Amino acid sequence: MSEQAQTFEFQAETQQLLNLMIHSLYTNKEIFLRELVSNASDALDRLRFEALTRPELIGDDELEIRLEPDADARTLTIHDNGIGMNRDEVIANIGTIAKSGTRELMEKVRAGESEAQLAELIGQFGVGFYSSFMVADRVVLVTRRAGESGATRWESSGDGRYDLAEASRDSHGTSITLHLKAADGEDGIDDFTQEWPLRQVVKRYSDFVTYPVRLKVEREKPKLDDEGNPVEGGDTESVVEDLTLNSMKPIWTRSESEVEGDELKEFYRHISHDWNDPMQPIWLKAEGRFEYQALLFIPGSAPYDLYYMAFKAGLQLYVRRVLIMEHCEDLLPRYLRFLKGVVEASDLPLNVSRELLQQNRQMAAIRKGLVRKVLDTLRKMKQDEGERYLEFWGEFGRALKEGVGEEQDYRDRVIELLLFESSHGEELTSLADYVGRMGEDQNEIYYLTGESREAVAASPHLEAFRDKEIEVLYLVDPVDELMVQSLHEYEGKALKSVGKGTVDLTAEEDKEAKKKEMEELEESFSPLLEALQKSLDETVKQVRLSGRLTTSPACLVGAEHDYSPQLEKLLQKGKGGGAKQRRILELNPEHDIVRSLLDRHQADAEDGAVGDYAELLLGYATLAEGSELTNPVRFNSLVVELLSRGLAAEGG
Ligand code: ADP
Ligand code: MG
Repeated sequence: MSEQAQTFEFQAETQQLLNLMIHSLYTNKEIFLRELVSNASDALDRLRFEALTRPELIGDDELEIRLEPDADARTLTIHDNGIGMNRDEVIANIGTIAKSGTRELMEKVRAGESEAQLAELIGQFGVGFYSSFMVADRVVLVTRRAGESGATRWESSGDGRYDLAEASRDSHGTSITLHLKAADGEDGIDDFTQEWPLRQVVKRYSDFVTYPVRLKVEREKPKLDDEGNPVEGGDTESVVEDLTLNSMKPIWTRSESEVEGDELKEFYRHISHDWNDPMQPIWLKAEGRFEYQALLFIPGSAPYDLYYMAFKAGLQLYVRRVLIMEHCEDLLPRYLRFLKGVVEASDLPLNVSRELLQQNRQMAAIRKGLVRKVLDTLRKMKQDEGERYLEFWGEFGRALKEGVGEEQDYRDRVIELLLFESSHGEELTSLADYVGRMGEDQNEIYYLTGESREAVAASPHLEAFRDKEIEVLYLVDPVDELMVQSLHEYEGKALKSVGKGTVDLTAEEDKEAKKKEMEELEESFSPLLEALQKSLDETVKQVRLSGRLTTSPACLVGAEHDYSPQLEKLLQKGKGGGAKQRRILELNPEHDIVRSLLDRHQADAEDGAVGDYAELLLGYATLAEGSELTNPVRFNSLVVELLSRGLAAEGG
């Protein structure tokens, strides 16, 4: 290939982002250094990891990040001797937006957020490499991939294009030279060629970085004589000192009380690439047979893709200071995938494969320890900080519900963390609170699934429960349906759907009388029920009298093990249709309509209107539970017919 530079166009989104950086009003422009140091640290992590199997990649080099300011040229160069990039990687990583967060930010741009709001966003989020353009009008990157000999030079002024050329570099790693804009205090551009701003910024944002961030400084020092005493006459000489600007102490090894909130937030940002502050840190230091330390975070909000299969879960796994896995999924069960953080174990082999990890006994012990700690943290939050727990629940409750079916060791503790909507009031309730409110002769925990609180609360299935003031849980989240399939009971009380099976709320002492009454009713109703069943046979598998209605004439219910209508709808979508379950139609024997229907049928078993009314009742019950009519046209024409008949009767 020729030495000549080749020019490329930025992806449109990338250029948009660059423009944003270039013209940003955001005054905290120093964060560019945080981003570049963070990238350098990532590159060193990757090198160290590759070197586990190819030690020759590192050789005797000490891994470091070096800042090299040049006040005369007004440049600042950030060097690292990390993994570096080859030409293709430069094109893929630096010319393209891959980061999901950046994409979200760009969506906000398109959605027309104001410039001032954007400035805020940039400050909160940090947008990686491109933030260099907040302080520089030209950026030059020279990089060489470890294990390869050639180097690549990338250069851009952020004007839609970048140039690529071959270059040379003594050793692997990356150097990024920023041609700095003029320092401008008002615009938040400090003089980043000076020692103090650099020291401050590194300390503020990057103190925990595990590699030294170094800076050479010149000092005027008193000249010393051979014995080490200042020479007479107070002569000075200039001495170059190599300073390490960060303390490098891994934050998770420090004690919780000694780490400040801001440090913790920066660390979280570094490992999670999340823009917002975390909701809660979770510290864990385990001693004994297996020693490990962990610092986990509950993020401030759920990422948009948390419930997609492709969601990238996993904690960073360190073994004796070396990051050996960026996303180790085996450290937590899937339902806790929303947690971010770091685990460091001392006794794992360094070059362990994923397969071996999965079988490793220590891994299993760590996982169990982490789960216990996380669930315990949540329990305390729920107990002591109700408001915050509600916030947590709003973001991650859905994931936690998956734990009911998934958690092996601490299932009971997961169940204690669940919250539900309920007929008791607007506030969410736990199962323990529900049980605490149960009446003496109530033996079951009642629930009803549906699409929303409103839909469920209006359901006719609840009438008798409301009448008797029996609380019903409203399960209105699509995953609830699956959850109750693995949650059969709580404290010895079975969970029972009020939309399935039969319901009998008669008090113990009235049971005998009620039974007798029902038998009589059933006897007189039986010819009608049979006739209705026949005419509705296609959609209804049984027509029977109801114990759960007080004001409505009819409702639809499922058999004990049927799917709920919502789940059925979901399943049908997946299969592209398919056979529908037949339901059970329950009639309220006390209701006028039902009584009149009985009279008509008794007077004339062949009365054709009975079939029409049966269809109308079925349509009514379908709508009442929030389902869709199978044949709305037919239902409509029946209603019209009925209306005109009714009006004619009144008029005549
Ligand atoms: P992020 O760090 O979130 O991936 P950035 O915009 O900061 O996003 O960086 C984009 C990509 O460029 C990085 O993922 C990495 O692949 C590459 N990169 C940036 N800086 C370096 C570096 N110093 N050494 C090696 N690769 C780098
Ligand atoms: Mg980055």
